[in-house]
Amino acid sequence: MIDRAHCVARDRSDPLAHCRERFHIPEGLLYLDGNSLGAMPKAAPARLRQVIEEEWGEGLIRSWLDAGWWDMPRRLGAKIAPLIGAGADEVVATDTTSVNLFKLLIAALALRPDRRVILSDPGNFPTDLYIAQGVQGLLGRHELRLVPAERILDAIDESVAVVTLTHVDFKSAQIHDMKGITAAAHRAGALTLWDLSHSAGAVPVDLEGAGADLAVGCGYKYLNGGPGAPAYLYVRRALQDSIRPPLSGWWAHAQPFAFDIEFTPVAGIGRNLCGTQSALAMAALEVALDIWRDVDMTAVRAKSVALTELFIALVEQDCAGFGVAVASPRDPAQRGSHVSIRHAEGYAVAQALRARGVIGDFRSPDLMRFGFTPLYLSYAEVFDAAAHLAEVLRSGAWREMKTDAPARVT
Ligand SMILES: *Cc1c(COP(=O)(O)O)cnc(C)c1O
Repeated sequence: MIDRAHCVARDRSDPLAHCRERFHIPEGLLYLDGNSLGAMPKAAPARLRQVIEEEWGEGLIRSWLDAGWWDMPRRLGAKIAPLIGAGADEVVATDTTSVNLFKLLIAALALRPDRRVILSDPGNFPTDLYIAQGVQGLLGRHELRLVPAERILDAIDESVAVVTLTHVDFKSAQIHDMKGITAAAHRAGALTLWDLSHSAGAVPVDLEGAGADLAVGCGYKYLNGGPGAPAYLYVRRALQDSIRPPLSGWWAHAQPFAFDIEFTPVAGIGRNLCGTQSALAMAALEVALDIWRDVDMTAVRAKSVALTELFIALVEQDCAGFGVAVASPRDPAQRGSHVSIRHAEGYAVAQALRARGVIGDFRSPDLMRFGFTPLYLSYAEVFDAAAHLAEVLRSGAWREMKTDAPARVT
């Protein structure tokens, strides 16, 4: 029997407990959705005010150099790099995850001109599949082959140009074997493009150790960069100068201020930039990234596992017999930092939880998703959230939330 006192005791000995102080957590809210939109770093408002009033207001155009705006994509990329096992010169912060997928997918196909297949998983995040379909339509000569990730190794053959997968599945939280899949792709002469949106800041990622070729990821989930924060992209050092950027904007140019009429891409990762980025959005992401400098990723992973284990144990202890099933891997080694719970009326249950200040989310058709962010979530909060879930199920309070018209953002 797990009780609240047990959870409070765990909070007292939590080596990451101090990190919570660096975030604004609304009073009375149990926020289990940091996997969709991370909490706001307390340093963000003052930093944004400084960018607006001093750097923009007073510095104006001088701030591109004086305030370091010009270097932001590379500087922030270097701060993301240690979280994903990359070198500082292998990552840039820029654009959105979707746009970065587009850029790198086209670049990957150009590196394998004699191959026709883009291999992915039907359970991949929709934008990843939509972008692949767009690329397919644009180039007009590729096949998008979809094979469930657990069988993807068997589907990698010499027709495949690129294998593109999301490392931690956005629905189930299943962690895919980056190293094994990358090795199989390389044996067949294919490239790999990984989406780290649900990985960075949540589970250990070792792009270099896995030999991964290309990767993208999101800045506003576990990295806490704010709504619409810049995303990032990674290109393995050895591949960088063979990339032909399809969005060949002036930020990718070797000499952007020469205003040459010929496009000559800069050497290195910078050629994957396109145009001017939002200094405001970059500044918000940067204060969030600076928090990670003081954080031990081993402790993050240990707490993530402990939080998800605790939640699953509480659901089993208190919600059994109410139509719920754990839809995430039971083996913590296979699981990212969220837990999906299946319930036939999952949308109504999630709405009933929201009405009680417990914020998770819902993924069609029947999955409630609860995200566990080790930097700012406590064990006691996990206990309380599970207690609310049990109460909503036991009382049937969700029945009043049934609707035929789900909200536009779930
Ligand atoms: C959140 C997420 C995205 C988001 O893409 P945007 O372009 O930022 O909207 C992409 N891929 C995955 C796997 C995600 O989880």
